[in-house]
Amino acid sequence: MKNKYVSPILENIRNYNFNGDMELAGKYALDYINSVNSMRVYPSDEDIAALSVFDIPLGDEPTPNAEILDKLHNYGSKATVAQTGPRYFGFVCGGILPSSLSAKWLMDAWDQNPAMFVMSPIAGKIEEICEKWLVELLNLPKGTAAGFVSGSSTAINCALLAGRNHILKNLGYNVSAAGLNDAPKIKVVLSEGAHSTVFKALSIIGLGQENLIKVPMDEQGCICADKIPELDKSTLLLLQAGNVNSGGFDDFKSICKKANEAGAWVHVDGAFGLWAAASEEFAHLTEGMEYADSWSMDAHKTLNAPYDNGVVLCKHRDSLVNAMHMTGGYIQITEGNRDSMMYTMEMSRRARALDIWATLMGLGKRGLSELVKELHTKAVYFADELKSIGLSVLNDVVFNQVIVRYEDDEKTKKLIDAIQKSGVLWLGPSSWQGNAVMRVSVCSYKTTYEDIDICVKEIKRLKEQI
Ligand SMILES: *Cc1c(COP(=O)(O)O)cnc(C)c1O
Repeated sequence: MKNKYVSPILENIRNYNFNGDMELAGKYALDYINSVNSMRVYPSDEDIAALSVFDIPLGDEPTPNAEILDKLHNYGSKATVAQTGPRYFGFVCGGILPSSLSAKWLMDAWDQNPAMFVMSPIAGKIEEICEKWLVELLNLPKGTAAGFVSGSSTAINCALLAGRNHILKNLGYNVSAAGLNDAPKIKVVLSEGAHSTVFKALSIIGLGQENLIKVPMDEQGCICADKIPELDKSTLLLLQAGNVNSGGFDDFKSICKKANEAGAWVHVDGAFGLWAAASEEFAHLTEGMEYADSWSMDAHKTLNAPYDNGVVLCKHRDSLVNAMHMTGGYIQITEGNRDSMMYTMEMSRRARALDIWATLMGLGKRGLSELVKELHTKAVYFADELKSIGLSVLNDVVFNQVIVRYEDDEKTKKLIDAIQKSGVLWLGPSSWQGNAVMRVSVCSYKTTYEDIDICVKEIKRLKEQI
């Protein structure tokens, strides 16, 4: 007798009728979408305490899908942070545009793996289109390659690996084959104000933390161009389009010229700020960044695409592909088509470029440009209103970030604490030139001037209680 075992559990799942539960999921999602503008921005202590309903052992038997959805909706939704609402200004986050959310639902049903073209022609095609569009939108050198990764952290890693290998190759050393142990020294130059993910990436890729040349930043958070040391062809230079506190942009024009002449590799961390290049009015902020060698950015911040959307861009396609590519007996390459795994660390992954495509389609060039403009204009408005209630704004609001202080460290911290507990808005702390500050990041398309008025009124009320 041939064994034809059938699991009763799986047989049930195979015969499952999706209609009811997909409708229920849709209903709950719509409930959330329709209430997120008015819900508490940060969950109440009671709603967080109620998460203890999840503290149960995994049962032996399957749980009905409706019950899973009920539990998520009844307890999970209330313990979310209303990041997709209009009054979340923490970190640098961004909401989710309708075009991307609705398209993502459809694409979740496809569940495509873009590793190779042969695994998903649509995913390969859309990545190719997104690469082309991004290069045009950001005014990057023709032929620049893009890899679609989970976020800037990974994008920075991919770019720095491409840069590291490229530099070592130019020094006559094949690090992919020979490893790092006997490699020539790489000179890493970066701003002391570089994002922490840049320091993390340098440590992951074997360049460490202790032998970096840290250049001071000016009072706006930009690298002091005149303090950058002599560069050469062993140099990896890291610049920034959008300091995470101040939103400041480095002086790419003069620095990239010097770096190009010296044969250094320049990487630009533009997690949220690189999008300035897609707006005629703000493109001056990124002027000259097109002379860099690699760039990293997020689509889940300024662009308001869903999470899990970072992009690595590299002028030297071969250097990125050489650092990322892999081979194997079962790999099936389609000549002339895009095999996405050649551009990222992962082989299997979400076909996430589809999110970016849908988001860009939903905005158009003009919508994207106006999104950048609105975020900036609202950040300036927010800053002015905060000044009018007696708070200090410590940076020039060149993009979407505002650094705010209330007299001293203690009062500033107390104010942040009160704001976070209020449920009316949410923003976080940072430190700036040795002082405690609060940081406002205007990053969602949803925020209106009325929302800012509501926030400023609440901040004023809380400030008066300190
Ligand atoms: C957010 C951010 C990062 C890290 O990006 P993730 O998408 O969170 O990995 C890096 N650099 C800057 C300037 C950022 O704002």
